[in-house]
Amino acid sequence: MSNVIVRPVNLYDLSRTALRDLLHGWGYSDYYAGLIWSALYRELAEGTEAFATVRPDLGDKLTSEAVAGSLPVRSYIDSADGNTRKYLLGLEDGQAIETVLMYFRGRATACVSTQVGCAMGCVFCATGQMGFRRHLTPGEIVAQVIHVMRVLRERGETLRNIVLMGMGEPLHNYDATMAALETLMDHRGMAIAPRFITLSTVGVVPGIKRLTQEKRPIRLAVSLHGATDEDRSRLVPPARRWPLAELIAACREYTETLGRRIFFEWALIDGENDGPEQAHALGRLLRGLDAHVNLIPLNPTIGFDGQPTEPAAVKAFQVVLAEYGLPSTVRQRRGIDVAAGCGQLATMTPIP
Ligand code: SAH
Ligand code: SF4
Repeated sequence: MSNVIVRPVNLYDLSRTALRDLLHGWGYSDYYAGLIWSALYRELAEGTEAFATVRPDLGDKLTSEAVAGSLPVRSYIDSADGNTRKYLLGLEDGQAIETVLMYFRGRATACVSTQVGCAMGCVFCATGQMGFRRHLTPGEIVAQVIHVMRVLRERGETLRNIVLMGMGEPLHNYDATMAALETLMDHRGMAIAPRFITLSTVGVVPGIKRLTQEKRPIRLAVSLHGATDEDRSRLVPPARRWPLAELIAACREYTETLGRRIFFEWALIDGENDGPEQAHALGRLLRGLDAHVNLIPLNPTIGFDGQPTEPAAVKAFQVVLAEYGLPSTVRQRRGIDVAAGCGQLATMTPIP
């Protein structure tokens, strides 16, 4: 007797082609695959609802062999200004992830996780402080967006931006992340335009090279935080593995091959990386690149006692960057009071 447990297939894990192949295997035509795809990603139907829209025999087959793995909301918390809601979503194995919904005046943005925890260990990041638990599946990444879209639909709103800036390093979970993005961008489903999707990486050089080779259409942001290997590796341990010379070469190849601007993120930490000499070093490092710098005054986390840069020093940093022709923006601080800001996502602390 075999004791192999056959798990139902999670339809959110499947590409449109894979769904079609599954249904072909069961003897159903493309037409039915199209109906299911549209129920899942246009109507955002819950699993059994989606199955009910097709003929009964196929509905029964799907009910017994498949699920559409929505993620249950374990809890949520709103920022005091009412503009940010952070969800704790449960996974099948009992773990949990955080997903953040930001309402920027009609430009709702979902901040999505790609891993439970993170292996990269950046010292100022709550996700890094919790360590790596596991990769998310494509379906678990897709389900976060579906959740947010359903919430917005109830409010009569739509989702505009997706940022892969939640828990985890997306290029450390490359295949699942790309599979999820394919589904999110699919023109017969959610049809999210690639220019509204930003992937943020700590600087995984092989991943950036793959994005370039595969001509992935999304926007790319690279977290720098230091403009020399020595400065950077104090904050971002992967800097030792992928030195700046290699990282910037990969970024240059990305912008030149794809003809696209690249974004750099810099968490401004008082007295650590926010002085004029660091701004000059950053200006020199990025000279000649079609680049934009996003400055993020440090958000507090339990495991790191640095302070955010004062507004006047932020401005001074920007002025130096401008001397090098480098445009920069200061990222609006959102949801800091409920630990929903950049780098504050973790699931080790219970949410009230
Ligand atoms: N792993 C990816 C994406 C998730 S983190 C990456 O590191 O890029 C998203 C952004 O938040 C990154 O730029 C990261 O450096 C930044 N960040 C992490 N901790 C932060 C903190 N405490 N304050 C401000 N920004 C932080
Ligand atoms: Fe991971 Fe990004 Fe946090 Fe670094 S900043 S630990 S790469 S999630």
